[in-house]
Amino acid sequence: MLPSRTHVFRFLLLALLNPALCLGQPSELASSAIPPEKLEAYSDLAQQWEQEYLRIDTSNPPGNEARAAAFFKRIFDQEGIENQVFEYQPGRANIWARIAAGTPGPKRPIILLNHEDVVTSDPVRWKVPPFSGKIVDGAIYGRGAQDMKSEGLAQLVVMVMLKREKVPLDRDVIFLATADEEADGTGTDWMIAHQRGLLGNAEYLITEGGENLNENGKAKYIGIDVAEKSPFWLKITAHGRPGHGSRAIPDSAPNRLVRALNRILDHPTELKVLPVAEEFFRAMAPLQASPERQRQFRNLRQSLKNARFRRSVENTESLNYMLRNTRQPQPARRL
Ligand SMILES: [Zn+2]
Repeated sequence: MLPSRTHVFRFLLLALLNPALCLGQPSELASSAIPPEKLEAYSDLAQQWEQEYLRIDTSNPPGNEARAAAFFKRIFDQEGIENQVFEYQPGRANIWARIAAGTPGPKRPIILLNHEDVVTSDPVRWKVPPFSGKIVDGAIYGRGAQDMKSEGLAQLVVMVMLKREKVPLDRDVIFLATADEEADGTGTDWMIAHQRGLLGNAEYLITEGGENLNENGKAKYIGIDVAEKSPFWLKITAHGRPGHGSRAIPDSAPNRLVRALNRILDHPTELKVLPVAEEFFRAMAPLQASPERQRQFRNLRQSLKNARFRRSVENTESLNYMLRNTRQPQPARRL
């Protein structure tokens, strides 16, 4: 769901249209040279394409990302942007596109990376059909609007704007949409194994992850994803005494499995303050409501010795996971 078409798109477009901004160098935004009516027209186009993109069912499994790649290809071809589609398995495709720098210089490319697949959805739990791209009260609904078709679409529009507006570039801008991010990552694996050369030894890559706070059309902060939790898969197999379901068999395999899973879930994991998490809390301190909370965020290690503060952090889902290993039972399909 998107809060508002213009704000979200404009924010992303402005940020992406200025690679210098992303690198922290002050400079004039390329988009400030575009008249407001023209920017509005780009916003309208982005909304229309966003709805079209959300209507493409790329639920993974099975993915069918070739449909999404065909959608991007049609637009890149129309706009005269160099592109290649790689259907590495039937129905599963990545698409790569590039706008080359005017004069090839020493600067290495920047990649705009997005994934085409979305997780599955149960229409019964949705207010509108998940692949309708319907607008209700100013918000666009669709499976993948947040993860991450809107960003993929914004990256597409950036490519189109760079091309149409003839923005001078001092490095190549590469667009890459991949399949199968939500399950096994075969799309990116294939790209690295078979087409690494097309990634041009890039210096920067922009993709999902990291949360931003946008208030009244202004970025209050821009989150940068510096690390992700790595999975450590454990396959649990239970053995037990078989028998008829009408009799209680305490040591049956399912009963033993349930008890084992419960013990794993109930086992407390150790609290660990990694330097990167400590830095995050320090950086977020000024945004905390009370001076006391600000002080606690600035001195995380010390503050965690305070039981009340520790409990409040542990009970906040968006903070707790940064400070410990987490466990999540998954169906065997993922293993
Ligand atoms: Zn995602």
